[in-house]
Amino acid sequence: MSNRCIFSTSYYNYTTWLKIPYVCDEDALSSSSYCLFHDQSYWKDNPDRINERLTQKIEVGIPNNEVLLCVGYNLPSIKITKMINKEVYFNFAKFYDQAYFKGTTFDLVSFEGARFEGSAVFQDVTFRKADFKHAIFNEANFQGTVFGERDFAECQFLGNVLF
Ligand SMILES: [Zn+2]
Repeated sequence: MSNRCIFSTSYYNYTTWLKIPYVCDEDALSSSSYCLFHDQSYWKDNPDRINERLTQKIEVGIPNNEVLLCVGYNLPSIKITKMINKEVYFNFAKFYDQAYFKGTTFDLVSFEGARFEGSAVFQDVTFRKADFKHAIFNEANFQGTVFGERDFAECQFLGNVLF
């Protein structure tokens, strides 16, 4: 029997308009109290496993219109290029390498407090509503991107940014 990941925090939810608790529902790794996403270093040696599981979560959730919760995730290089027609929460997530979202359509996505250590590619993305409050970017590319509502309050850009 495996244990649940012990990660929990709270995040601002756009359905309830409230800060609500986030409790991870992934199983903990056998070597850790955290799951593959919340363990601080698992991403270093297992980027493929993380990408596989993330893709699975996206694909399973889409037909069910489920909210995609990736709060506090530690992510290697990731690439998401399909349309995600539901609420997505990457609050406080750490993107250690490239975050590649070229051509994606997001209905509602929150990157509040997220940290992009590598380059962030949001080229030709359509956002109906995007929250980047307190996010920290290195290099970022938002060329060709269409924003509906957006919030970049207290967001930091440490490298080159193209809009
Ligand atoms: Zn977890």
